[in-house]
Amino acid sequence: MQIADHITDLIGDTPLVRLSSVVPPGSGLVAAKVEYLNPGGSVKDRIARKLIDEAEASGELRPGATIVEPTSGNTGVGLALVAQERGYRCIFVCPDKVGKDKIDVLRAYGAQVQIVPSSVPPDHPDSYYSVSDRLTEEIDGAWQPNQFFNLNGPRAHYESTGSEIWAQTEGEITHLVAGIGTGGTITGTGRYLKEISEGHVKIIGADPEGSVYSGGTGRPYLVEGVGEDMWPGAYDPSVPDEVIAVTDDESFAMTRRLAREEGLLVGGSSGMAVVAALRVAQREPDAKIVVLLPDGGRGYLGKIFDDEWMASYGFLPGDDATQGSVGDV
Ligand code: PMP
Repeated sequence: MQIADHITDLIGDTPLVRLSSVVPPGSGLVAAKVEYLNPGGSVKDRIARKLIDEAEASGELRPGATIVEPTSGNTGVGLALVAQERGYRCIFVCPDKVGKDKIDVLRAYGAQVQIVPSSVPPDHPDSYYSVSDRLTEEIDGAWQPNQFFNLNGPRAHYESTGSEIWAQTEGEITHLVAGIGTGGTITGTGRYLKEISEGHVKIIGADPEGSVYSGGTGRPYLVEGVGEDMWPGAYDPSVPDEVIAVTDDESFAMTRRLAREEGLLVGGSSGMAVVAALRVAQREPDAKIVVLLPDGGRGYLGKIFDDEWMASYGFLPGDDATQGSVGDV
């Protein structure tokens, strides 16, 4: 019988689907790797399992311990899933720009969540890094996966995401496009694809305008889970051949199009990555591009998919203002 022993056994092996409607005629092929089909709903399930496996193996994580992590939600869900299976307690520290829906999900999985301000520098005592470090020190036997610096993050992607994409494209992939948050996805997946293709696969980062990866100062942007105001150790800047900056406006407009035109209800960082992928596809008609879509859109219904929220930031484009019109049923 084909029955998994635990939901965490179903992490990875996500499918690729061709994008069609959003891809302008004459562009290269764009295939999306649909990471929201992981059991916890995001790409982060992959690293959660690897980080915990390796910490158990090294003795850093002992039975019954508490896992403390600064996370915008998705890593928390992954960690909570694996923690449940193995009997650990979880405390997550989230910046206040993260949607309520995402926080509620973490709590539903049984985790404790502490909310901290988004708009303070990383070295401020209330920043999500500082609060996590303090909790880790204070709680006896606490372990912090430290996704921003833990090299098992990129390793998880080297071992799973990279080899899956190579096999699924039968080695025909020419470009990988992925957003950069901790940098784990692009570093691990990109490194694998560069090595196995002997440098033929080009690795393209997608980054919110304002973030340091695309030359910004770290000034705020609204897309969640990507971009940074510091340089995490999980990111190897020598892996991407190019980093494309994308505005919030472009990211959110594309996120809405993906739901309406491609049947892909995904988050804002997916929209951002697709905008970057389409730029590559338009300039390279022979390209075979894989773009990674990190999470699903249900956590953003009150934001990106909400006309009022969008309009409050001046984002709603004229041709997208048809929601709720008389003709809608
Ligand atoms: N998109 C979303 C929604 C995320 O939660 C993350 C993880 N922070 C990313 C993209 C980026 O992934 P990575 O941390 O591997 O760079």
